[in-house]
Amino acid sequence: MNVDLVVVGAGFFGLTVAERCAADLGLRVLVLDRRDHIGGNAYSEAEPETGIEVHRYGAHLFHTSNERVWEYANRFTAFTGYQHRVFSTFKGRVYSMPINLGTICEYFGRAFSPDEARALIAEQAAEVTNPSNLEEKAVSLIGRPLYEAFIRGYTAKQWQTDPKDLPAEIITRLPVRYTFDNRYFNDRYEGLPVDGYTAWLERMADHPNVEVRLETDFFDLRDDVAGNVPVVYTGALDRYFDYAEGELGWRTLDFEMEVKATGDFQGTPVMNYADEDVPYTRIHEFRHFHPERAHYPSDKTVIMREYSRFAARGDEPYYPINTGEDRSRLLAYRDMARREDGVLFGGRLGTYKYLDMHMAIASALSMVDNRLRPHFVEGERLISGGVDE
Ligand code: FAD
Ligand code: UDP
Repeated sequence: MNVDLVVVGAGFFGLTVAERCAADLGLRVLVLDRRDHIGGNAYSEAEPETGIEVHRYGAHLFHTSNERVWEYANRFTAFTGYQHRVFSTFKGRVYSMPINLGTICEYFGRAFSPDEARALIAEQAAEVTNPSNLEEKAVSLIGRPLYEAFIRGYTAKQWQTDPKDLPAEIITRLPVRYTFDNRYFNDRYEGLPVDGYTAWLERMADHPNVEVRLETDFFDLRDDVAGNVPVVYTGALDRYFDYAEGELGWRTLDFEMEVKATGDFQGTPVMNYADEDVPYTRIHEFRHFHPERAHYPSDKTVIMREYSRFAARGDEPYYPINTGEDRSRLLAYRDMARREDGVLFGGRLGTYKYLDMHMAIASALSMVDNRLRPHFVEGERLISGGVDE
């Protein structure tokens, strides 16, 4: 095999490693992906009937406070000024999410100043002192009434696991604000790639030293590669070791896409559904991600309902569940990864970590700095540090 490095997976992690190693270190890089397109889960394409850009693996919003990642991303794409805002329907009424002063005023049906709202929530949150799971953490942040309205049903649908058995971190992804600021993300930079995710990802892969081979499963080539060429592996960690320690738990999503004969179905990009008896968690309407695109039709729109369930083998793994059992399996796999000479594990599947795009890019840039450059430039041995912890 006439290459210096094999990268398994053409998602943001794999393409960042490939691009840096080719452009900065002058290496010949072979990128493999078993899908028929690059981009991993960030892949998007035009819906054929309407030309509206849809995200095949769920809506992807780019946001970061990391200067290096922002500068790096801007080498390949410009960003629109899109700012993400989400609403939630609960018992036939619409509220703004994440929970902010507007949500609190709407829900309790009166005007609160920031101080009054803080006092109310502090009183309602006082029942929990040492939160150790998602439910306790949520109650400690927003009190029980708001938890029961906006979090309990949604989380039950999203995870089908008792919120008491879920880690507290999941909920800390959502900010709580005592102002009327209803932006979803707190990050300094935010936007959508002007000409779409796939154009951005294609530009990352567009280097004469990078060869991308699609519809190619690493495990079909493993014998040719193993021991001969260093590998950066961004596929599933448990699969790499043939599930020797059992399967790591993931959730998957089912998406139901529909073209509607109206120019606007819901007036906003994402509507969450907090009621437990509505089977889907949210509806995305893709045209609203790009209000600046004049070529979108005015009489048609594309919506996508999102349903969540446990992933069986063969389903797309989306969210690591991270139960206690998963965590002990993960430790065993990390030990095995540490002993795997010449293979570095990275990305969402390779580390069993929910990584946003900016985190995947940041972590790939660190792998190049801390592992690949020392190996290829300074001749250090490529001992796997195991899975990045
Ligand atoms: P992936 O994108 O999963 O890429 C891994 C690639 O490896 C895949 O293409 C896969 O086919 C390939 N592969 C696996 N095994 C093999 C094998 N054996 N041989 C060959 N190829 C293999 N991030 C945000 O910043 N904002 C968002 O709004 C956002 N929304 C999301 C919504 C959903 C539903 C999901 C699941 C994720 C979302 N993310 C979001 C996260 C984002 O998708 C990830 O950060 C990003 O995909 C991580 O890139 P990656 O390269 O690690 O993994
Ligand atoms: N969540 C909720 N109600 C909402 C939105 C989110 O309870 O209206 C909870 C839910 O448990 C979810 C977590 O907050 O898993 C993180 O939400 P986020 O929107 O970040 O999830 P993602 O977009 O990654 O699915």
